[in-house]
Amino acid sequence: MEARGTPEEARRSSADSDVGFPAYPGCGDNNNSQHHYGNAADLVFSTVSLCTIALAARDAGFSGIFGPGYPGHDDHTHVDSRLENDDDGVNPAVVWRAPSCGI
Ligand SMILES: [Zn+2]
Repeated sequence: MEARGTPEEARRSSADSDVGFPAYPGCGDNNNSQHHYGNAADLVFSTVSLCTIALAARDAGFSGIFGPGYPGHDDHTHVDSRLENDDDGVNPAVVWRAPSCGI
């Protein structure tokens, strides 16, 4: 992929790539990333903190959450439904990693 600038540019760039949903740089590079299955999103809201997003995602039942405090995730909160993905070849699991948010 080409070099990227701002996160917004990265989102626009990744929207045209093989990543199913907009992904931040490095989030979705893994060949088995949930982004490649179209069931992941990287979220940022200007008026809501990343931890608020992570906690809301936990309460909403997302099985994959990576946010502040997890390497590469201090500028967005990644959410996915990996538990429901039977095509990724990994054992079904809930994985929450946002240690700065207490998750
Ligand atoms: Zn992501």
